[in-house]
Amino acid sequence: MKITTVRELGAQLPVGFPQQDGTLAKAFTLRPYKSRIDRHIGLWEEANRDQFGTDQGMQLAMKVAKFVSLIVESVGGKQLTLTEDGNSPEEREVEIAQWAFADVLYVYFYARLNSLGDQMSVDVACPSCNREYTGDDSLVFDLRDADVRLIEKPSEMDFWYKMKRPFRLRDKKTVCEQVRIAPMRWVTMQQPGVLSGSAMGQLGYRMLADCICGINGNASQPYDFTDHEMDEMEKIDRVAIDKLAERVGGGLDLRVTVKCDNKDCQQPITNPLNWTWDHFFGESVPLEI
Ligand SMILES: [Zn+2]
Repeated sequence: MKITTVRELGAQLPVGFPQQDGTLAKAFTLRPYKSRIDRHIGLWEEANRDQFGTDQGMQLAMKVAKFVSLIVESVGGKQLTLTEDGNSPEEREVEIAQWAFADVLYVYFYARLNSLGDQMSVDVACPSCNREYTGDDSLVFDLRDADVRLIEKPSEMDFWYKMKRPFRLRDKKTVCEQVRIAPMRWVTMQQPGVLSGSAMGQLGYRMLADCICGINGNASQPYDFTDHEMDEMEKIDRVAIDKLAERVGGGLDLRVTVKCDNKDCQQPITNPLNWTWDHFFGESVPLEI
């Protein structure tokens, strides 16, 4: 795994898709972000409202997948065609949800800088001197400066971890000695309660369960951990698996750092990127006329 920046990486997926020849298909192209895309997203939101209801996290995750299904024109040289009306077929949404989490987020991110520019304004206060950057004085970040953890070959995203504290699985017989860690898929984010703040514990469990995709050397058979099995896992293994999951998962570092312009301060201001829809494609776009 190597650390690069959005500027360096360009229109390439951080994870990508393993190919027969042992490489990863990474190159993608995007369509122009035309109003037609917003029209289709609007119709899609109306049609799917029953699914996400008041779960804003779920709504955002599903909406991002729908958006990616509309804006991506090709991946690894393969064209992703639209219907006559310029909509994405339903099976494309399902396909995108199966992509690595890092890849979907990266395309969403890249589509923002491709369509609306790489400058992003945010209201923040310097944590060192409390200088406030708001309104016309808000901080402007360059999205191309964001770091990306890049997976360079398929072997980097498939890792067997030997449990330090093996434990018995739900059949009461099998002892979990080893787990296979692979990149988390976007679909994990689309589950109820996962992105919505109230259930961070649930987010941890669901993410972890999705990254673990095989046990005891058996790579061909996926294993779905139950919450009860997660409960049984010891902290020392959870910490290690969390770290490995981050390593094999690749992706954007959603923190952007700039230097405070107060002459007596000059300290770095690190801001977690707010990638919610309205912020990302609306209020964060600096007005240049
Ligand atoms: Zn400062």
